[in-house]
Amino acid sequence: MRKLMIALCACVALGTSAQAQTVKDFLALVTKKWTTPFEPFHLIGNIYDVGTDGIAVYVIKTTQGLILMDTALPQSTGMIKDNIAKLGFKVTDIKYILNTHAHFDHTDDFAEMKRDSGAQLIAGERDKPLIEGGYYPGDEKNADLAFPPVKVDRTVIEGDKVTLGDTTLIAHATPGHSPGCTSWEMTVKDGNAERTVLFFCSGSVALNRLVGHPTHPGIVEDYRSTFAKAKAMKMDVLLGPHPEVYGMQAKRAQMKDAAPKPFVDPGELGTYIATLEKDFDVQLAKQTAALQKQN
Ligand SMILES: [Zn+2]
Repeated sequence: MRKLMIALCACVALGTSAQAQTVKDFLALVTKKWTTPFEPFHLIGNIYDVGTDGIAVYVIKTTQGLILMDTALPQSTGMIKDNIAKLGFKVTDIKYILNTHAHFDHTDDFAEMKRDSGAQLIAGERDKPLIEGGYYPGDEKNADLAFPPVKVDRTVIEGDKVTLGDTTLIAHATPGHSPGCTSWEMTVKDGNAERTVLFFCSGSVALNRLVGHPTHPGIVEDYRSTFAKAKAMKMDVLLGPHPEVYGMQAKRAQMKDAAPKPFVDPGELGTYIATLEKDFDVQLAKQTAALQKQN
């Protein structure tokens, strides 16, 4: 998978029809995993996993209703709703829908979920035009990466808080992967302990162009600032927009074996960011070399 992403990004830097074909190839490869069902479960504190095998979707239960974090592909909307119901929750109890970043694999069901729940949609300020336009940044006309446009009810910037009942989430602007990429911090009660949790937005290069005609202006500086910010954070639990970010399946299996607290790992965020940063440098060098070859 990692190899594929690296290969993909090198091609994307070349642009035009090669890019369109690469996007199609990429989607053909990932869609199966992204739409494979996964049994919902209680993750930690008041956080529940209701996503698929390849895309993370969370429900946060508060004293005043539910918060939904992200959605998945349209093929999975029914499955996400079923997962919510299996845990004894109701879609109509969702009061807020929070977004990590405005990419189709996390925003595709927003319009339907918003309609069904009447919830308010909250997203990073710089991602608002993308969500309301239903397109991928820097690739506005690419139908393969489009999603149903939906109104953003509230935008957040660094340090903004979203509170529902007994639960408050703090927004951290972590741009790069998307311009308004937002990581969400909260504290959960875990038995007698309190744990800080970060829903990290993402820091992978994925389909982004870093050089030439970048996906968005200032993208390289954005990634760098995000890596620096995340490295300074102290979090007990790392969560992310795709389960592989934090090895969800393996930890879930450990939970079944009654292992103590597999999701609590204060060193994991730092290690993960270091990996991302290394990969970013490789991708940047490859894209730069590809561009020089082209010119
Ligand atoms: Zn993404």
